[in-house]
Amino acid sequence: MDIALITNVAANAVIGASMLILWQRNPTQKFTAALAFSCFAQLVASAAYVAVRSTHPLIANAGVFLVSLASSAYLSLMISGVRYLSGYQDGLGRVFALFFGISAINLISLNIVSPLVAQGIFAASLTAVGVLSLYWLWKIERDVFGPRRFVGIFVLLLGLNQFTYVLLGDAGVAQQASVGTVLRIALALAVFGSAVQLITDEAKRLQHRFERLSEVSAQGIVILQSDAVVYANPASLTIYGVKAPQTMALSTLVSSVPKDERSEVTNRIERIRSGQSDGATFEALRFKANGEPIWLRFQYFRSEWDGDPAIQILISDETERHETARALELKTRQDELTGLPNRSVLISMLDQRCKSAETVQFSVILLDIDRFKSFNESHGYMLGDSVLKALATALRKVVEERHSVMRLGEDEFAIVSAVGCAHDEAQGIAEQISVLLSRSLSVGNSEYFLDCSMGISLFPDDATDPNSLLRAADAAQDSAKNAPGTTYRFAHPQSLSNGAAFEQEQALRAGFTRSEFKLYYQPKVDSHTSELKSFEALARWDRPGYGMVSPLEFIAVAERIGMIGVLGTEFLKQACTQINLWRAQHGRCVPVAVNVSPLQMLDVNFPNVVEGILKDYAVPPEFLTLEITESSAVQNLESTIQQVKQLQRMGVFVAMDDFGTGFSSLNMLRTLPLHTIKIDKGLIDPLPQADAVEVVRAICTLAAALKLHVVAEGVETQAQAIAARDAGCGELQGYLFSRPLVPNDANAWLHT
Ligand code: C2E
Ligand code: MG
Ligand code: MG
Repeated sequence: MDIALITNVAANAVIGASMLILWQRNPTQKFTAALAFSCFAQLVASAAYVAVRSTHPLIANAGVFLVSLASSAYLSLMISGVRYLSGYQDGLGRVFALFFGISAINLISLNIVSPLVAQGIFAASLTAVGVLSLYWLWKIERDVFGPRRFVGIFVLLLGLNQFTYVLLGDAGVAQQASVGTVLRIALALAVFGSAVQLITDEAKRLQHRFERLSEVSAQGIVILQSDAVVYANPASLTIYGVKAPQTMALSTLVSSVPKDERSEVTNRIERIRSGQSDGATFEALRFKANGEPIWLRFQYFRSEWDGDPAIQILISDETERHETARALELKTRQDELTGLPNRSVLISMLDQRCKSAETVQFSVILLDIDRFKSFNESHGYMLGDSVLKALATALRKVVEERHSVMRLGEDEFAIVSAVGCAHDEAQGIAEQISVLLSRSLSVGNSEYFLDCSMGISLFPDDATDPNSLLRAADAAQDSAKNAPGTTYRFAHPQSLSNGAAFEQEQALRAGFTRSEFKLYYQPKVDSHTSELKSFEALARWDRPGYGMVSPLEFIAVAERIGMIGVLGTEFLKQACTQINLWRAQHGRCVPVAVNVSPLQMLDVNFPNVVEGILKDYAVPPEFLTLEITESSAVQNLESTIQQVKQLQRMGVFVAMDDFGTGFSSLNMLRTLPLHTIKIDKGLIDPLPQADAVEVVRAICTLAAALKLHVVAEGVETQAQAIAARDAGCGELQGYLFSRPLVPNDANAWLHT
């Protein structure tokens, strides 16, 4: 019997301890704790039973008391354990209430009735607990042979086993203890089975929840294990453009990475796998299975899969956000109309270039279309936009790719040369653009001629900071604007130091002695028949190293240094030589108009000079016309009247140039014996706008009343030509018919 009791105690100790360890491993399984303590309570009860049998009444009574308390604890802990296992959450309060209740019943029945009856009540209680347990656990267990059902059965059997003592008395103690030990071991096994089953169920539930979440997630989830993809959710297949899950392999991921990045990605995975790094978060360009580029955001971290270490990769497709951001960035850096980089790109480029130690030299060319405002007003903004687009395309084509072409707004463009290019390259670019603009620009079905003014500044010669570079180019552009036609100017003449001005004057004097000054001839045609009526002689200075210098620039210098007289005489002589040449070659000639500086007109001797030249060259005076500007005539009206009268007497015609830009009065027109008035380009540009037509018509009516011929200057389009003709201009001059030509090219006009 003692062996049976000792075995019972030992079994309870081992089972209780095992269950405690189980509880410690998984504290959520509270039933293991309750049942472990129930084992210890049972252990105490069994041990106390030894005292019950003592001959000493005090020890025996204490033993009975202890057995009673331990049994009550055992019963209440057993109920709690089973309740926890059945899914109820009772809390400690209830356990204690149960314990005190059962203890009270036990003690009362022990002391008032008899130990046997008390044992009977206890056996009945434990059996009742067994029945309830079986009921609760049967309900909750899905499997027919689920471990929890066995827990219920063994608790019931343990209850029934208590009746052994009730029925057999002390003779049944050993049997009850032995059967109890077996049942307890069986119960322990069922409890362990339940614990394992609950853990497996929980793991399955979590796995299921993960799968449900990852199946519907828009984020790609890929699990890598030992160089293989062990899981890839549908979103990851969509992101990589893979149709079947089985084709989602490590090679798919590798081939999506740009070649030069592959080794870096492999290293990163290796570092995470080996524990050198916890994980990584980054955004990168990848390629779908069909080669389409995508921007992905990755989160790599170490995890486990089916109990083994793995790398989990979360992937989100950021392509749309990336594209939007790129489009936005592009928008802030791109001119919407032409697609060229805009002003902010220019500023940041200049800023960066000026700060960089690697920048040796470069140039900035600012380009602006002449009279584009008038173009817009006369042709409408839609066509204006198309012209700007066409110009942008043409510039991009003609300017080498290593230089940057930008649009700064309205009709302003900028060209920044590649680093290392300075004066000569900038001049080359400007020349290329001049050649481009000497041809017409096709827009839709029409052709347009554009003139541009370009200002060039050089880094570091002109300036070393962006603002000053732009200011210098801008000032140079202003100077270019003074010259008609497409022109470019370098920044330095603008900010001519005394030394530079002196150098220019010297060059002009030297140029004169070296015969660098030539006349170009621009035809004036009959507005009705387009036949050649006359030529205008326009001066050019072929300055070595500078190209063709505009008369607008050097005439002013000649005037300043008092050379205009000799230069003007030289031009008159050249024109007469040419007239003679043409007369000899073609047997005919048309009048040639030579421009006269206001300073020449101030010279009282001027008409005599003209007369002398005509005589010397034997040119009949009707072949020579002199063009004086309206403003000079207004400023020196008295002397001009005298001079013009004298010239008229000699038979030389005088034309008033740039009419409409000065302030000539009707009276002046009447008193000046003019032959022709040339309506300034500024008044012709806006044709065929109705109000502009009316102004030209009014001038023509006035001219007709004063018996003056009318020439329209700067006619560039057919529409302007028709409007000028219909308004009453007898002759037309402008790029529409011809640019100023070298004498050889002008010959062709005399053939017709
Ligand atoms: P200007 O006498 O009014 O000459 C007309 C200017 O307009 C010329 O510029 C001519 O090339 C340009 N032009 C002609 N048709 C068109 C056109 O359709 N569109 C545009 N945009 N421009 C056109 P250039 O040859 O540069 O002469 C500029 C000015 O320099 C002349 O204006 C004249 O005032 C002065 N100039 C030219 N040659 C001489 C000269 O021998 N002596 C003097 N004193 N001044 C001269
Ligand atoms: Mg002129
Ligand atoms: Mg003019």
